[in-house]
Amino acid sequence: MHQMTLTELARGLKAGDFSSRELTTSLLDRIERLDGNINSFITVTREQALAAADAADAARAKGDDRPLAGLPLAIKDIFCTQGVRTSCGSKMLDNFQAPYNATVIEKLQAAGMIGLGKTNMDEFAMGSSNESSFYGPVRNPWDETAVPGGSSGGSAAAVAAGFAPAALGTDTGGSIRQPAAFCGITGLKPTYGRVSRYGMIAFASSLDQGGPMARSAEDCAHLLGAMAGHDLRDSTSVARVVPDYLAELDTPLAGLKIGLPKEYFGDGLDSEVESAIREAIKVYESLGAKVCEVSLPHTHLAVPAYYVIAPAEASSNLSRYDGVRFGHRCDNPVDLEDLYKRTRAEGFGDEVKRRILIGTHTLSEGFFDAYYRKAQQVRRLIRQDFLDAFDEVDVLMGPAAPTPAFDLGAKKDPVSMYLQDIYTIAINLAGIPGISVPAGFSGKRPIGLQILGQHFAEGQLLNVAHQFQQATDWHRRSPTDQETN
Ligand code: GLN
Repeated sequence: MHQMTLTELARGLKAGDFSSRELTTSLLDRIERLDGNINSFITVTREQALAAADAADAARAKGDDRPLAGLPLAIKDIFCTQGVRTSCGSKMLDNFQAPYNATVIEKLQAAGMIGLGKTNMDEFAMGSSNESSFYGPVRNPWDETAVPGGSSGGSAAAVAAGFAPAALGTDTGGSIRQPAAFCGITGLKPTYGRVSRYGMIAFASSLDQGGPMARSAEDCAHLLGAMAGHDLRDSTSVARVVPDYLAELDTPLAGLKIGLPKEYFGDGLDSEVESAIREAIKVYESLGAKVCEVSLPHTHLAVPAYYVIAPAEASSNLSRYDGVRFGHRCDNPVDLEDLYKRTRAEGFGDEVKRRILIGTHTLSEGFFDAYYRKAQQVRRLIRQDFLDAFDEVDVLMGPAAPTPAFDLGAKKDPVSMYLQDIYTIAINLAGIPGISVPAGFSGKRPIGLQILGQHFAEGQLLNVAHQFQQATDWHRRSPTDQETN
């Protein structure tokens, strides 16, 4: 069961091949047996999951036929889950039990889904390797000497390892797509505003977006349909009808215009990644798509602009962790200033502190115009690059990351880590959707093809990804193929 897609599991439940309790128990047992090394979960909610599975089975017996009912899911530990620790990968929130559910959690629960637990992540979603978590690094199930990518590394690893058929992630600068690429799964970052951010712990509010991570584009379509929609509690969520993403999945690709941004195939791109992506493009040509080169001339400014804007927003969002209201508090403060200082010094890890310092600096008087305002102007240019490209082509394709998963501990210098995001970050700055789809291997380590679309073109992206998955079987490979236990 652990290699089946959500869609297949839904069919199995409906046909009565197994119950939700059997499915949930087998995954929980698998996590208990095999997650010691991978470390993809921070918290496993066994009791709640089994109770919800029993309720789903009872409802099904009474005729409930909601498609996602009784299906288990892993949840990135950035989504608030009522009564369950929501740590955001940080010591600061190690003792925090959310008093309410994020909108996305509410919606998925209403659709009948069952949370298996909360997955490991880079602290406050800052990172590209899942090495900045307070709960220790996550290992890549394909090769335990490699990172799973970040910041949704626990979610990606949990799906790849067969602990959950699907998971929730968040993507501020690539954190769904890059770990999906590194772990050989499918991950979609929706258009900014498509999915409510209410109850999703804020990192950089103008960039953060939650989305699905699963074994196939079809599964992502299932999940996005249940997650998306306007939310009065998030003023940046968009009041726009949620289309039936599954209904768009069988659109033929004949005549589809694919643009290959030349900046995404330049220096620094690993040769095996490049050849896998070029092979994938050939598959699209065989499906009737037309391919041409396009240019996104401001691509080289995306990483610098992001590393001004994201830390600026983070420094503001993270000012709430002051030891007064919730989260970690230092022992025996002598006065208020001592409370703030020691609480924050003890509660945050190095990467988070680095971002708070950068963000506070770029927002400070005298530097605001030079850095923050400039970065916002660059952001506008980056967005315009995409809009211009979409005048010529329907979708853009390229690698999700410049290399396959790298070794744990390999990137000690923060700038080399930041450069991991060169193909993902501009997408968040522009607010457009992007998906990463398995498209080959470098040795044991998976490679992801990234597909980008216009604002709110998730249906088209999911279809374009689904057609590829009908023609290839990369997404069917699993690191558990050789498993004996
Ligand atoms: N790697 C990027 C960062 O460290 C993106 C993280 C994310 O998307 N949450 O900020």
